[in-house]
Amino acid sequence: MKQEKWVEECGVFGIFDTQKVLHEAARITYYGIFSLQHRGQESAGIVVNHGGQFLGHKGAGLVVDVFDDLHLGLMTGHAAVGHVRFPDSDESGSDVIQPMQIKSKAGQLAIATNGAIINAGEIRNQLKELGAIFQTTADFEVLLSLLARNRISSDCIEDAILQMMGEIKGAYSTVIMTDDRLIGFRDPLGIRPLIIGKKDSSYILSSESCALDSIGAEIVRDVLPGEVVTISENGMSSRYFVPKETAHRNGKLCIFEFVYFARPDSVLDGASIHQSRVNTGKALAREAPCDCDVVVAAPDSGVAAAMGYALESGIPYGSALLKNRYIGRTFIQATQLQREMSVKLKFSVLKSEVKGKRIVIVDDSIVRGTTTRNNIAILREAGAKEVHLRVASPPVRFPCYYGVSASNQDELTARRSSVVEIGREIGADSLAYVSLEGLKKSTEGILCGHCASCFDGEFPAGVPESVCETLSATYREGSNKK
Ligand code: SF4
Repeated sequence: MKQEKWVEECGVFGIFDTQKVLHEAARITYYGIFSLQHRGQESAGIVVNHGGQFLGHKGAGLVVDVFDDLHLGLMTGHAAVGHVRFPDSDESGSDVIQPMQIKSKAGQLAIATNGAIINAGEIRNQLKELGAIFQTTADFEVLLSLLARNRISSDCIEDAILQMMGEIKGAYSTVIMTDDRLIGFRDPLGIRPLIIGKKDSSYILSSESCALDSIGAEIVRDVLPGEVVTISENGMSSRYFVPKETAHRNGKLCIFEFVYFARPDSVLDGASIHQSRVNTGKALAREAPCDCDVVVAAPDSGVAAAMGYALESGIPYGSALLKNRYIGRTFIQATQLQREMSVKLKFSVLKSEVKGKRIVIVDDSIVRGTTTRNNIAILREAGAKEVHLRVASPPVRFPCYYGVSASNQDELTARRSSVVEIGREIGADSLAYVSLEGLKKSTEGILCGHCASCFDGEFPAGVPESVCETLSATYREGSNKK
């Protein structure tokens, strides 16, 4: 199924009780990954340290579908890792569901990771030359194989991880459980998020702070870009791949977390997601004002930005577009008639809020544009006099190589068309996007910089070798469109 929005590929979670008195690590992990469900709905898994034996359960589907009380009742232990996943375009099937477990000479290991290793192909080939065997094309298998190889010549797993960080390129936040510790690490630029929490004598690692809130844990701090955090019976300690003092300042957190991916109640690297979205709406109102009667949010992703737009512009906020929450992802729509029906079933309009009015509709982003076009059409059908579109992120002109999936990167609306053309295509009376500067400034309080490569094409962690040449020829051409 083609996605209308870009999707984060994964969420990771881990817990370790330093006093080893906790028995419910798997159950807490269940609540943790349930809170990270928005980061991946394809599969879910948990591995628990059950008195020295690693017990895992995982499967396709939502967290609530994969686990029941029986599983969780059997999975007792003081440490666990969990994962939710969205599939990338190449991988499916049970082999790629995380966490992945291995047993090696150095002990047991379970890994859960979020992100993408852009030189995974090259490393895989090198390791194969040395006799390594791979069962999938998933990045985590490359990480495991590298770790196993590096561990042979290292005194500890942290050394093996630091060595690996020098060999891999890309964006990743990873949680690893070993026999006696929980380790979390973040790529040297901190493109993918990872935060530390604490509850009683347990430390927690999570992709987002919302999962810490949901289990009643307090936020300790973010894992720094390039930091390797170890939690064991001795408490928490850290090693660093980049200088600790400048790690946060030089970091580049994915700005799309603020646009769309992260849950509104999360705080990432010091910045509130909800407040950032409201601020972006305010910036949008300043940069692209509109003489209208009512501000309407594209449900549900545009709500915070629409509130900001209304606050700044003084135009009233109206709840004109409603979304049917019971439309499943597998809603069958084989014919044109069925597709039209599905739009009408998915979204409805409060006609009294719309009829005869000039509407400004605010959305967080446009990737394919299909839903936006449909929303504008149903507002017009309901009697709107004018429909203007304001977008709380700049035009998406470049693909993402750092662990974010679009169903077909060639369909990026803004790469194919200019802003005027997009406005015409989707049927808006006017269209404007917030500037990248406006979006960056909206992430108030952030302790690091941003990756904004899908907007500006800079790719701070590099791009896969295979796309190096075509990127400048093809995508930079798209970036010239205004
Ligand atoms: Fe995020 Fe875009 Fe950078 Fe990918 S390219 S990490 S989606 S900001």
